[in-house]
Amino acid sequence: MTIAAVITAAGSGTRLGADVPKALVPVHGRSLVEWAVAEASTVATDIVVTAPRSHLEAFRAALPGVTVVAGGADRQSSVAAGLDALPAGASIVLIHDAARAFQPAAVMRATVDAVRGGADGAIPVVDVIDTLVTAPGRDGEVGDPVDRAQFRAVQTPQTFRVAAILDAHHRGKPGATDDATLARELGYRVLAVPGHEDGFKVTRPADLSLAKDCATRRQAEHEIESGAARLSREDS
Ligand code: C5P
Repeated sequence: MTIAAVITAAGSGTRLGADVPKALVPVHGRSLVEWAVAEASTVATDIVVTAPRSHLEAFRAALPGVTVVAGGADRQSSVAAGLDALPAGASIVLIHDAARAFQPAAVMRATVDAVRGGADGAIPVVDVIDTLVTAPGRDGEVGDPVDRAQFRAVQTPQTFRVAAILDAHHRGKPGATDDATLARELGYRVLAVPGHEDGFKVTRPADLSLAKDCATRRQAEHEIESGAARLSREDS
């Protein structure tokens, strides 16, 4: 079973206020898209990144061995461009936001396992931590409270059987906020798996210090893992 990933990185990141596209913003020595690709490549063998047309060469230079294609005007068309570039024979695809650069590989694997187990798709979700109310009326009066236990916040990767998500993009309406919505509207069965707090989306400047904490931790974990692997090789 060939597992591929489409990593969407074609957004401008206006809310982050950087002078390069968000995915190229460096965090602890590596750009966000490099962190995302490093984690996804422990799960997927073929990776396609969607990049802003203006920065294709910068992305290609940063990501040797990765297929980089131009994204579209909105996320849905960027994903469609990424799906078009998948290698023939890919049977499962993770669709992942570069902006969620620190989603742990274990969460990615859980989505793949759910699809291997027979679902058409699987997405990570997390509890909502804020109190929720409906939007205020024109008079400014606060909306009614809703039971947050009934809601989940959706992360990526959103992972699918390739045939199902190609069909959903082919037949689905434009403007869907995410791929799971597109697939579910056509009757595909999408399961939820537990997400992770590190799977947050880097959006505003303050998110960068949280991202730096994740990067420092991730690097320390990898150093410990490679140290343990070296010791076990020396022992044998
Ligand atoms: O804008 P937002 O942060 O919600 O975008 C989510 C992800 O989709 C980001 O990783 C962004 O780079 C990507 N995106 C894209 N093409 C667009 C808009 C956003 O690949 N046209």
